[in-house]
Amino acid sequence: MTCKGICTRYKAQKPVGTGRYASGQRRCQICEIFIKWEGLWCPCCGYRLRTKPRNLKYKAKLRARVEADAASVKSQTTPQVVVVDATSSEFVKETLETAVSEGWTKTKTVAELRKSEGMTIKKARELVKEAFEAKSKPIAIKA
Ligand SMILES: [Zn+2]
Ligand SMILES: [Zn+2]
Repeated sequence: MTCKGICTRYKAQKPVGTGRYASGQRRCQICEIFIKWEGLWCPCCGYRLRTKPRNLKYKAKLRARVEADAASVKSQTTPQVVVVDATSSEFVKETLETAVSEGWTKTKTVAELRKSEGMTIKKARELVKEAFEAKSKPIAIKA
């Protein structure tokens, strides 16, 4: 199976706005050429023509996995950071630090945050949870 040079007669131009395979072109991997040809076999070398891009499924799978990984990394790293609005961040940070260093209960800390910041209970709980977890982690590892 070798290229006899016949395939150049069927050589296909790169289509505009669509893929080569999508527009019905076929690829001969022996001749290394895209041709306009209806048959399954290369008119030049006789090798089986390719009608679909190689590894399309695999690539789609891979892309899905990479995106899933990125998403899970994001969801793992986000709780480490205490995210608060810029306007109240200093006070909230202080409150959370005080709470952790003075050993407040989570309930008390949530209540303090809500009282002085007018936070929703959900948001306050989230911040408190994050702050307490961030502080307790290194200790947990040591123990
Ligand atoms: Zn050829
Ligand atoms: Zn060929």
